[in-house]
Amino acid sequence: MEKILTNLVLLDVINKKEIKNASIFIDGGKISKISGKNVEKRKPEYETIDLGGRYVMPGLINTHQHLMYKRTYGNLWKQMNLGAPALTVRSLKNALAELRMGITTIRSCGDLYDIDYTLKYMFQSKYLIGPRIITCGRPLAITGSHVPPVFAQYADGIDEFVKLSRQRAARYEWVKIFASYGLEKPYVNGEYARPEITLPELKAACDAVHAAQKKVAVHCSGSAPLEIAIAAGVDTIEHGSAMTKPQAGMMVEKKIAYTPTMTALTETLNPIYDRGPKWIEDHKKGIPFSNSGLQNAVGAGVLITSGLDSLGVVGDEAVQLNEIGGMSKWDVLKAFTINGAHVLDLENEIGSLEVGKNADIAVLNSNPLADLMNLEDIYMVVKDGKCMKVEEVNLNYDFETRDYNSDIPQLYQ
Ligand SMILES: [Zn+2]
Repeated sequence: MEKILTNLVLLDVINKKEIKNASIFIDGGKISKISGKNVEKRKPEYETIDLGGRYVMPGLINTHQHLMYKRTYGNLWKQMNLGAPALTVRSLKNALAELRMGITTIRSCGDLYDIDYTLKYMFQSKYLIGPRIITCGRPLAITGSHVPPVFAQYADGIDEFVKLSRQRAARYEWVKIFASYGLEKPYVNGEYARPEITLPELKAACDAVHAAQKKVAVHCSGSAPLEIAIAAGVDTIEHGSAMTKPQAGMMVEKKIAYTPTMTALTETLNPIYDRGPKWIEDHKKGIPFSNSGLQNAVGAGVLITSGLDSLGVVGDEAVQLNEIGGMSKWDVLKAFTINGAHVLDLENEIGSLEVGKNADIAVLNSNPLADLMNLEDIYMVVKDGKCMKVEEVNLNYDFETRDYNSDIPQLYQ
């Protein structure tokens, strides 16, 4: 049945306009009409949902996520030893939690056992309710990387990077590579970050992935590693601490987008997560570089997306983009929506509320333009036209209607 959301304030992130007393018509999971008027007369063939003047924006896009170790306590890497059953259950719970936060699309920046890849198709086939997932599989790193081999698959030399990148590009939309580390002592310019890959290795990986028309995301902080990543031609830079002004300029020129993950860093210092005194001490040193990287990127006009990573939180991420980065509140809303859609090549389907796009919508109780923390005040999430009050999002949603014995389409191609 066609649905109408009415009596709402529509946040038009493309034109940076608030449209009061608006209505959104949803048909077949897509937005079929937008009206600048409230729907007064109810028609029986429509389900009309009166949102009581609430704020409506595109479903949020989280471009850096790890469902299997989101919001975990204690040693981060130990989480990976839990094994597939525990990590799968945790990933599923985290996927539902994303929906409750108004996040309707995520890019997984690394999983194990193809968990996110499997969930992607379980959600896509409507076997379970969950966000749209874009995946990269298990990340790549060099031998001796700071990321232990229980998580990253190690590669060394051009041949291995090409082979493993091609394997991933044949299966996933993205390939994730760890390109930097260094927290013990400064590497250059007082920065605690050194390259964990060579330019020939990363360039060979990028060329292989691009030949398959897929994209490369690199974990990369520090001006020396960033020099390599930008020259190699990656598609997105994750974290990007200590990015210099000239590097930000090069990123604009080469159309490389940036996911700052500000709160992934600031939250890891929070003692409640119990990461240990050494971890906290080491990561504290990264804060000024994280801030300057963001400021240089904003100053140069780099395309910025919102990525929460393992510990990031929506409201404070938005506030930091605004207060530390100097992005306007509208630009922050774009970072959480249409910018992510562009990076994921989904700008024709999601990222803004326009006729023909998916009905992926976040309904907020209060105006995020008044206070960006209001991005956490979610009342309802709409995924492919399904309207769910946040407390209704659970594993049983629509469960009874599915054919339990069916294959999950595309998963076993
Ligand atoms: Zn990450």
